Amino acid sequence: MRICILCKKMKDDSFFNDEHIILKSLGGKKKFKCVCEDCNSNFGDSVDVFASDTLVGIRYLLNIAGRKGIPNPYKESKTETFYPLEFKDNPGIVTNVKVLMEMDKKGYFKKCTAIPGVYDYAEGKLIVSDEKNFRKFFEKTIDKLSEKYKHVSVSALYIKKDSHSDNSGEGACFVEKKQFLEKKPRILFLSYGKEELTYLIKCCYPLALKMAYEYICVITDLKYLDDDLAEPIRLFLKNFDKKGDNILPTNATCEPLYKKMDDQEWEQWMNLPDHNITINIESKNDRIIAKVDMFHFFNYEITISENPSRYPEINETLCNKIESKIESFSKIAPNFKLDIIPIYVKLKE
Ligand SMILES: [Zn+2]
Repeated sequence: MRICILCKKMKDDSFFNDEHIILKSLGGKKKFKCVCEDCNSNFGDSVDVFASDTLVGIRYLLNIAGRKGIPNPYKESKTETFYPLEFKDNPGIVTNVKVLMEMDKKGYFKKCTAIPGVYDYAEGKLIVSDEKNFRKFFEKTIDKLSEKYKHVSVSALYIKKDSHSDNSGEGACFVEKKQFLEKKPRILFLSYGKEELTYLIKCCYPLALKMAYEYICVITDLKYLDDDLAEPIRLFLKNFDKKGDNILPTNATCEPLYKKMDDQEWEQWMNLPDHNITINIESKNDRIIAKVDMFHFFNYEITISENPSRYPEINETLCNKIESKIESFSKIAPNFKLDIIPIYVKLKE
């Protein structure tokens, strides 16, 4: 017999299975037998799934598999975007070529089709799309590259013939190296303004609280179950409804590491040596607080008890820390570059 830390019922050992305090779908490896099967399934369907679905982009990027494998928000998606090209004759002048990006099932670039049109006019030259030359040259390039970048699926980049232009017959190629594909695609919903980030933080709060609660239960040898704050936390988690307005059962703040992500901040975050979830339980200002760091992206500080004297084992010097372990990051080499060749067509005099 043992007690379930979420419903406080005594049950036979056979009713307990392994609980990952840090979700397996978020890279958690350590298991504890402290939650009964019923609670595991009830809380799993609400708190856990809600947060891990919200973090689908991060899981995709960090290659963290859940029950259904590594999630992929980009699966076979198509995005229209602009890609900047810099021409050799006009250094510093960047032309935006409209392209259609298509992803394969694994979320890598499958195809990139330039949408036909006249892109630029510079020094007596029109820069237009041209199917024939561009494709020929590009396919040759792809052949050479495919040996080197076997792990990247790029079948072809086409520029389709522009039926509205008379200039396509005079294609004359020159080569300008330009970084084209890089790592995995940037995760859109992480990159933008404050509102998305606030939403992300709100969605992950119940999970952060649950992880902190379970962890302090384990490290205090279940003494925490009778803490004044333990009951409201259990109630909050039990009644949590992702559609409802949540009222936090305890003081909590969240510090996002990035207010919004521009290109530079994105690079910075990508290049961090690790992207784990870390839970620290410590005594601070007459409280026990849990610091929950989510992938160095945002950082909760949650009051977990107002009676620190009850837990002499938790102090500022003692490190009560648990973290996820994420071994692999992006599968594509960080210095991966694909050359792209624009077409120059001379204007007829
Ligand atoms: Zn239970």
